Amino acid sequence: LNGLSHAYENTVSASVHPFNLFIDDGEFLVLYGPSGSGKSTILRMLHGLEAPKTGTILIDGVDITHAAVNDRDVTLALESYALYPHMSVRDNLGFALRVDGLPAEEIRERVESVTSKIGLRDFLDSVPGDLSALQRQTIALARAVVRQPKVLIMDEPVVNLVPEHQAETLRLVKDLQQEFGLTTLYATENLEDAKVLGDRIAFLDHGRLIGVEKPEVAEALVASIADVDS
Ligand code: ATP
Ligand code: MG
Repeated sequence: LNGLSHAYENTVSASVHPFNLFIDDGEFLVLYGPSGSGKSTILRMLHGLEAPKTGTILIDGVDITHAAVNDRDVTLALESYALYPHMSVRDNLGFALRVDGLPAEEIRERVESVTSKIGLRDFLDSVPGDLSALQRQTIALARAVVRQPKVLIMDEPVVNLVPEHQAETLRLVKDLQQEFGLTTLYATENLEDAKVLGDRIAFLDHGRLIGVEKPEVAEALVASIADVDS
């Protein structure tokens, strides 16, 4: 992300001030900051739902700044209510792969492999309504992972879950990300989650990227930000 910035129409100040950020292949990068700090706006620019005011987005050196949502190999993991209720788990997972034009055999292999990893292989012919809330959430995540996108993005995926499911889902997110080596951007307001998940944490405050650090030094950075603010 080179000199990337954003401003919503009819607003006085920028939602995201210009910043540079290099994300490594296979890295899990957490965008951490309070409400309104710009996390979702950055993810929406990556996804192609918001156009940057300045700057470029490169993936493997290819400029995708102005590419259409479907032409940039960036997948957003959605919440479980976005599953197709009338479709089996197999079809929910395979749907986008068919749209992507993958051969049937590869679709079958990928769907079976991902459901084995998440322990839901026996549920391939079930519909979402037959599953528990946590199983549905797991399938929703797997539906993004199975596409093996260049970049996986998640915007506070656990905030609406009960605490037990949050911990379980975080573990699953991390496991799947590592298993498939996915380059991942994950937005959260929760520092503990950020530390558990992130290879690095990008700290945002009022639309400014104020640092990118390993989880070990996160606490110290947050303390120093609090000092500056007070
Ligand atoms: P949250 O934790 O609440 O999701 P966030 O870190 O995702 O916050 P953004 O939603 O990216 O933050 O918001 C960044 C800034 O842009 C905020 O000042 C917000 O008020 C503003 N903003 C967000 N969406 C819009 C919009 N559609 N129109 C105008 N301003 C917006
Ligand atoms: Mg947000």
